This record gives sequence, C-alpha cells and structure tokens, in this order.
Amino acid sequence: MSRVIGIDLGTTNSCVAMIEDGQPVVIPNTGGYKTTPSMFAVTEDGKRLVGHLAKRQAITNSKNTVFAAKRLIGRDFDSPEVTKARTLLPYELIAGPNNDTRVQVVDRVYTIPEITGLVLREMKRVAEEYLGEPVQEAVITVPAHFNDAQRQTTRDAGRIAGLEVLRIINEPTAAALAYGRGRTESERLAIYDLGGGTFDISILQLGDGVIEVLSTAGDTNLGGEDFDRRIVEYLLEKFEEKEDASLREDAMALQRLKDAAEKAKCDLSEVNSSEVNLPFIAADDDGQALHLSVVLERAQLEQLVADLIERTRGICDRALKDANLEPGDIDQILLVGGQTRMPLCQKQVAKFFGKVPNKGVNPDEVVAVGAAIQASMLGEDQPGPLLVDVTPLSLGIATVGGHFARIIERNTTVPTARKEIFTSTRDNQRAVKIRVLQGESEKASENDLLGEFVLTGVRPAPKGEPEIEVTFDIDANGIVSVSAKDLATNQEQSIQVNPRGTLSPEELEKLTEDYASDEVAAKG
Ligand code: AMP
Repeated sequence: MSRVIGIDLGTTNSCVAMIEDGQPVVIPNTGGYKTTPSMFAVTEDGKRLVGHLAKRQAITNSKNTVFAAKRLIGRDFDSPEVTKARTLLPYELIAGPNNDTRVQVVDRVYTIPEITGLVLREMKRVAEEYLGEPVQEAVITVPAHFNDAQRQTTRDAGRIAGLEVLRIINEPTAAALAYGRGRTESERLAIYDLGGGTFDISILQLGDGVIEVLSTAGDTNLGGEDFDRRIVEYLLEKFEEKEDASLREDAMALQRLKDAAEKAKCDLSEVNSSEVNLPFIAADDDGQALHLSVVLERAQLEQLVADLIERTRGICDRALKDANLEPGDIDQILLVGGQTRMPLCQKQVAKFFGKVPNKGVNPDEVVAVGAAIQASMLGEDQPGPLLVDVTPLSLGIATVGGHFARIIERNTTVPTARKEIFTSTRDNQRAVKIRVLQGESEKASENDLLGEFVLTGVRPAPKGEPEIEVTFDIDANGIVSVSAKDLATNQEQSIQVNPRGTLSPEELEKLTEDYASDEVAAKG
C-alpha cells in the first residue's frame, strides 16, 4: 500500500511529513530544508520553477514569480481582498470566466488552483524522492477560517497535483493532534496560529481519546506578509526622505526591499538591531548609483506592527466567548506559524491569556506533523484520537428583503446536516431560487455567496403552500453541499454548490489531465 503524506500548505512555506515506523518524520527537500517556499515562477525561456528555485530568482524576475497565492485561493476577482492585492503584488492578476482570480505569468494565464497544485506537486515530489516510491494520497491542511470556496479550491489543487486528498483538516486541529500525541491528561488548549498570510485561533479540549474543537475564529487576511509590507513602507519613506527619489515604480527594487524587510524582521526576533543594506538600489537623474542603508531597531519594528498584533486580540476574545470561556480557563497555549517567533507577539499572547505559551512545539513543523498523523490514521487505519471539529462560519440562505437566514451556526460540530422547509412567495410558482451564503452578517449581501440554484418542477399551488425541504450538509472536510426536495412529489434534486471563484468541473478535469500527462512526459 502506498504511503499517505500530510502537507501543510503555507502562504509562505509548505512542509510535508509522514509517519515512519510509528514516528512522525518531517521530510527534507533535496536542499536539506524542511520547508519549501510556496512559490511558482516561469523564466524568460519558459522554464517552470517551484520552491527554492523560484524564490532564488524572484528579485530578477518579480513580475513572473508568484508568491502568497494562498491569499487568493477561492477569492472572487472583484472581492476587496483581490482589489487590494492587485495594487500590492508585483505579478499581474486578471479575472477568470467565473469571476475567479487568475495570474498572468509570461505568456500564459494560470488559475490559482493550478499554481497551488504545482506547489503541492512539489511537496509530493519531495516525499517521493525521500521514499523512493510514488505517493498518491494526502491529507492537506487549511486555515480553520477558510470558507467553502477556499476549501474546495484547495481540494481541486490537490487533484491537479495528482493527489487523492483523503481529508482537508484545519491547521490548528492538526497542531493539536501533534501536541496531543502520547498525552493522556485532560487539557484545554488555545492554538494561536499566525503564519505568513492568515491568523487563526482555536480553543480545544483534549482528553479521553478525544480532541474536540470548542471554537475557532480568524482572519484570512492577516499574517507575516502584512508585517513585511509595513517594513517596506517604512524603508521606502526613509529612502525618499534621504534621496528625494522614489523606488515605488521599480519592481526589482521593491522585490529586493521585500526580501530585505522579511530578513530584518526575522533577525529582530533574535537581536535588537538590524541593518538593511541594499547597494545600487537605484540611480539618480545623473546616473549616479543610489544605495539604501537603514538601521532598524526592534522597538521601531514593534511600533510599525503593534496594531496588527492588537487585531488578533479581538479575534481571540471572540473565540473564547464562543466557547464560553475566559482567558484564565486555558491550560496551554501553543504558538504556530513563523510570525509567532516575534517576541512582541509572544509577549502579547502571554499578556492576554495570563500564561507563558508552551515552548515545546516547532511552529514551522507541527501542522505538517499533525497532518501526517491524520494521514496515517486514515490511510493505514491506525488508531488515534477521535477528532471533533467545527465549522468556522455560519451557513444559510438569502430570504426576501435581503436578510440572511442562518441555518447552521458557526462553531457547530462537523460533519453536520440540517433541514429546513421553504415555500413559494407567488401563486402557482413552479420554481424557487435558493442563494446559499456563508458568513456572520445579518445582511445577505455582506456574506460570501457560495452558489445559487433554482429548484424547478414545484407542484403548482397557492403561495405559501408548497413544502420544499432543503438540506444543508457540511462534510468532515468542511465542504458544503445542498439538496432540495418537494415534499408533495418527493422529487429530490441534489445540488453540488460550485462556489463562485472556483474552477468549473470541466476545467478542473482538463487541468488534472494536462498535468498528469505533463508528469509522464517529464519522467519518460
Ligand atoms: P508560515 O506561514 O507559518 O510559514 O509563516 C511564515 C511567516 O513567518 C513569514 O511571514 C515569515 O517572515 C515569518 N517568520 C519566520 N521566521 C520568523 C522569525 N524568526 N521572526 C519573525 N517572523 C518570522
């Protein structure tokens, strides 16, 4: 039987792990690194690069190097997040036919699931090289706060990578699985996960062979990339003050700044001062070389990003409130995600919970290890704790007057199914339109539209009389499906919600086939 791997698909870096002789192993890539940049690039001569190779050439080829694609997963092109990203990213985003977001790289348009799929395929390759045998199945982690479109897109990306995705699990749940391995005591955990692009907080109860998620909250648009951007902005201003020249239109200079900003940020987790030195960053009107040299102090960095860390407090509050707990009720706090290495972040977490976070987990690897544990439980039927997870967002439909009728509340245990009876609003109405939404606003228009469908063939009757039973289902992956039945005729229609912002089934099929044949060609 082929091995099942666990993949932590990160905004900045990805990590793959598996269970070997009963022990979790984080698999290094050929360069010896245990994490691989989630980056994709195409060179001028059309060569596709993924991971470290893509990162290495990012400065000289920033327009064709895609990073942080996870932030675009499952997002409509006209969403506020993508609109903002378009002004900030050096690569070009364009609208797909389904209002999904795509990327123009050299002379070809790539979909986000395709780019994500190429990163996943690289992780699959890392595992195959280590094992010396093909790998077909995987468990992939996602931020707990991912909505249906984002989860479906991640699953599609797995298919494009040639993987059967056995399960999509939430990153904090995976971290708890890794932490809880071999532990028997009953504990209440808070998992504070601040990665490159997303923030999640989950409250869990461990004990008696069960890992139960009590609540989860997060922000899919808050992470280390935002910290880097603050530093870049600061450096740009310093340069403008000193040289009376701007680097804002220079893609290569901006990429160098971004790299240097991230490096300084990481240095400042260890030391109090770091010098950003970028010689020959630009030239003045007379062709004289201009250099950037700025000393960044830890205190300055803390000032630049304090509000970003502050934003996580409100989200922690909400998660605790949903679990009916106070900060003092938490026994252990686990820090996950590279950005939690920042001392100010650790200090604020300790202040909020009134407890020093646990130092025993590796924030870069713990999620992949948890995914690997889940993978071995599913693939080889290994015994393990029972995982009880929740849906992060409420699910419902739009009703007359633009209201949102909540049918499944956020933080409901999954898998779950709920039925609701709907009716017609006009006499002899033959069809009803159902708009499926996910989110927390009372206004339908402020929530994510997962999809809409029309149930036809309703028995003609006076308004308000037909009984149309609509069933909402969330599976163990957090993926939503909806079915509808006219109770008078017992006629049932199953509707696969194909969220906006994702690929059509035909397109997914084609990409999966294209990349599968690409793989054979590469080997043969
Ligand atoms: P992840 O998505 O978990 O891989 O987190 C990556 C983010 O963590 C990136 O924004 C990194 O810049 C950031 N990061 C990694 N190491 C450190 C560090 N030592 N100090 C501060 N941030 C870090």
